[in-house]
Amino acid sequence: MRKLLLLIVIAALAAWRLWPVPEVRIPTGEALPVVDAPAGTRFALIRTGDATTLEAMTVANGSLFHLTRINHVAVLVEHPNGRLLFDTGLGLKVDQQFGSEMSLWAKPVFAYAHANPAATQLQAAGLAAPDRIFLSHAHWDHASAIVDFPQAEVWVPDAERSAATRGQPPAYLPSQLNDASTRWHAFTFSGPAIADFDASFDVFGDGSVVLLPLPGHTPGSSGLLITVPDGHRYFFIGDTVWNHLGLERPAPKFSVSSLIVDADRAATFAAVLKVRALQDANPGLIVVPAHDASVHDTIGYFPTFVGG
Ligand SMILES: [Zn+2]
Repeated sequence: MRKLLLLIVIAALAAWRLWPVPEVRIPTGEALPVVDAPAGTRFALIRTGDATTLEAMTVANGSLFHLTRINHVAVLVEHPNGRLLFDTGLGLKVDQQFGSEMSLWAKPVFAYAHANPAATQLQAAGLAAPDRIFLSHAHWDHASAIVDFPQAEVWVPDAERSAATRGQPPAYLPSQLNDASTRWHAFTFSGPAIADFDASFDVFGDGSVVLLPLPGHTPGSSGLLITVPDGHRYFFIGDTVWNHLGLERPAPKFSVSSLIVDADRAATFAAVLKVRALQDANPGLIVVPAHDASVHDTIGYFPTFVGG
C-alpha cells in the first residue's frame, strides 16, 4: 500500500512538471492615460496573515525545491474624498469560518499562520474603519473580514455578487458572505475603456483609484489601479497570478491549483497576458499580485503608506 502511494506521489509530481505550459504570444499593450492624483491619495498594505508553500504549487513549472511566501493582505486606500479597503484579508472570525466550513482535505492546502486582522491593526493605529470595501473577488481569503466592518458598503461587480451567492467551499465560505448585516452594493463597469480594458469603474471620479475587470479566476474578478500624487502607479491584480513568475514567463498557475481555484482557466490566462501587456506598455507600473510576499516586501506594510 505504501509503495503504491509512493508511486502515485512520484507519478503526480512528474505529471506536474510535464503538464504543458501553453505557447504564448504577449499582445501589444496600450499606454495608460496621464492622471493627476490629488494630494492625500495613498495606500498601505495591511498584512493580515501568511503561509509558506512550494513554488511549484503557485505557478506552472515552478520549482519543487523552492519555498515561496504567501501573504493575505487588505489594501487600505485613502483619498481626500473617502477611505476604502481593497480586499479584507483574514478577519477576526477567520479561525471559526475556516474551521467550520473548509473540508478536511482543504484545511492543510489552504492553511494560514499569523492571523492579524485589519480591524485590529486599524484600531491599534487609531484609524477609523473604511467607508467602503471593494474586493478583487469574494474568495475566503479576501472576504473573511467583511463581517468585521458592518458599517462599510461592500462593492462588487454584479458577476461576483452572483458567483458569491452560489459559491461553495473551499473557494467561497458562505458564513463570510451571507451575514444579514452586510451592506452589499453590486455595480457594473460603466466607465470608459482604459488602455486594453473595455470598461472601468472610477471610484472617486478623478482617475486616481480605478477598478478594471479581470474576469477568469472568478467571474467578477477585478484589479485596482492606483496613481499616487508623485505619478507612481500600482496595479493590484488579485489572484490573476499567485506568483510574479506567472507574469514574467508568462505562465498560468500550477495546473492542479488552477483546476481547484480558477473558475475559467482560459480566461484567467487571457487576463495574465492582458496585465503583462499593460506592464510592457507602461514602464514603471508596479503590478502587485494579492499573495506574492516577495512583491509586497518591496512596497512595505501598514502603518507605512505609499503616496500621500
Ligand atoms: Zn486569494
